[in-house]
Amino acid sequence: MQFTSDGGFVSNTGMRLVASICVLSVVALGQDTGIEVRLGAGIDPPRDIAGISVPKPPPGYYSPVSKSCSVIQGHGGAFSHKTLWSRYAWDFAVPPGTPVVAARAGVVVRARLAGNVGGNDQKQFGHAGNVVVVDHLDGTATSYVHLQRELLPRARVGEYVVAGEVIGAAGDTGFVVSPHLHYTVIDPRTQRSVPSRFADFKRNDGVPRKGNSVRAAPVPAVPQETMVAYKRIVRAAVAARRAGYPDLAWRFLTELHRRQIAPAYFYEKVRQALVEKTRADVERLLKDPPDDVADRLAHVLARTELAAAVPRGAHPDKAVALWVDGLRAGFLGSPWDGLASFAKARRLRDDPRFAKGARAALKSWQGEQKRRLDLTLHEATIALPWHKRRVLDDAEQWARRARDRKRLRTRLFPAEKKAASTEYRAFKERAKDVQRTLNRR
Ligand SMILES: [Zn+2]
Repeated sequence: MQFTSDGGFVSNTGMRLVASICVLSVVALGQDTGIEVRLGAGIDPPRDIAGISVPKPPPGYYSPVSKSCSVIQGHGGAFSHKTLWSRYAWDFAVPPGTPVVAARAGVVVRARLAGNVGGNDQKQFGHAGNVVVVDHLDGTATSYVHLQRELLPRARVGEYVVAGEVIGAAGDTGFVVSPHLHYTVIDPRTQRSVPSRFADFKRNDGVPRKGNSVRAAPVPAVPQETMVAYKRIVRAAVAARRAGYPDLAWRFLTELHRRQIAPAYFYEKVRQALVEKTRADVERLLKDPPDDVADRLAHVLARTELAAAVPRGAHPDKAVALWVDGLRAGFLGSPWDGLASFAKARRLRDDPRFAKGARAALKSWQGEQKRRLDLTLHEATIALPWHKRRVLDDAEQWARRARDRKRLRTRLFPAEKKAASTEYRAFKERAKDVQRTLNRR
């Protein structure tokens, strides 16, 4: 198996790929400008990936239709935009066959092309619509509904697309009264509709309303070589997974994911494949534990971030078991639980590793807190009237958690009492901003 000049894999001998995995090194160059994926010495470098710098794509969502059209139903529309899955959607009136383009760069993760039927009957046609979903780089995806069966060109699952690239054609399949494109930004994990703005619509804060006319602006061009690099790296990762080498796929994806240019969808798929492998490794390690079992466990966790494969309390030494639990929780995205474990471990023994773990958990918690409050503030600026209560609840909840965090930080590191209070005040102020923003509207 080897890389070919068009970026795919050609299977010849499995042995060759195994040898490649061992010496593969993914090297990042330049924090903001881009990345370079490079191979270690001793094997043929895949020239099509090596040496190509990959900058981030331009931000923002662009009009998903290729020509001017009007909005026939907007946010919270009384006809069909009142559910969790549609409340931030838009319906654009366009004739069947109008090219539909990706609103943002990403990977096509769904292309449901069932048939060519539709009509004004939710029971009969509710699930008959043709749908394309593009997963972006940041925990959001966009959904394009009611497409024609005959797409121009057909969107393929796994294909990387740039903003403005044609992914299908508008139509009238599914539950429709007249031909239109139903478009919404969604959370790819829950499929729920989330607020968004258009980068190419200047009025109403970038949120078109019913009756507004939307004119597609030219999308900022992505350099051809960047687009080619994205497509090839994603394709290479997919091929590696299919060929049964999740480690290799994982290497590609984590490196891209860290720069927020890897699609969550593939990341998850590869992750699942690796969970099985890691679970087996950990079981073997615990069967006949060597003296440095805890360090080895931590190494496995840190390398693969597959903490779910490790059982809780997986070490006879209570303090070490708590430490491993703390690491596990952190990698699973619950730094709060992790902190509690580190605090207990420290009470049992003063080991510098425990303090280091607690420090990492605090930092991760802080980042999450900031991200969530920023998101809530963004929601506050465009929340629908009946949605305001929930936005406010969110902000209050995050302020409460900030207070808990201040207490725990003070308990773990008494010397930082003052800094912890300052930080808490900043978060509290942010939560108040949310309230003020809601009151102003
Ligand atoms: Zn709609």
